[in-house]
Amino acid sequence: MDEKKAFIKERLAEIQKKLPTGVALLGATKTVPAEYINYAAECGLRLMGENRVNELVEKYDSLNKDLLEIHFIGALQSNKVKYIIDKVSMIHSVDRLSLAEEISRRALAIDKVMPVLVEVNIGKEPSKSGVMPEDTLAFIKEIAKLKGISVQGLMTIPPKCDSKEKNIEFYKKIKQIFIDISRQNVDNVNMRILSAGMSGDWQEAAECGSNMVRIGSGLFGMRQYDVKS
Ligand SMILES: *Cc1c(COP(=O)(O)O)cnc(C)c1O
Repeated sequence: MDEKKAFIKERLAEIQKKLPTGVALLGATKTVPAEYINYAAECGLRLMGENRVNELVEKYDSLNKDLLEIHFIGALQSNKVKYIIDKVSMIHSVDRLSLAEEISRRALAIDKVMPVLVEVNIGKEPSKSGVMPEDTLAFIKEIAKLKGISVQGLMTIPPKCDSKEKNIEFYKKIKQIFIDISRQNVDNVNMRILSAGMSGDWQEAAECGSNMVRIGSGLFGMRQYDVKS
């Protein structure tokens, strides 16, 4: 067997063994060719997340949709929503009203309700997308009025931290925001997913209450950006 496949099979088994009950594994599949994503699916992966619209569209026909649920996890331009609206079952990166409105419009046009997560800029980094932690509730109340989308939780990518302790603080913070918003019982909002944690820190994220971890390199190996999928 292909060395890469052996690697994926082994890593997937290892991650699944450590994954606490109730925590979903999403394979972050940017730069990973469809052949390997499908292999991971044959080994038991059920959720995958793509970052780039073009890449998702290119791979889409080759993906094993009987086994895989496809999410969109990257920065999303409103004018590209139309290319993915019929292909993904969740969008993790909603961070502005105009984007939520476009998803709503495009979903309604095909009689669909798109589950979305609100991306929170938990470290308040100027360079990063996501709504500010203190604005999250107001933002959710606003987009919850839109038909065609269903807010189902939060997503975050914490800042690069030089210590485990600081990193954990961010995951505790996002969990608290998640709980606070859940308690508001906003109409048309079903807070059920906290998408947080990546290859380097998913176990800490899960310990802090994340219930969906997005793992890329830890599952598929180092990304090779120069290789076309
Ligand atoms: C690439 C990516 C991941 C996974 O990153 P790894 O460190 O390779 O696990 C998770 N979430 C998002 C949004 C990503 O772009």
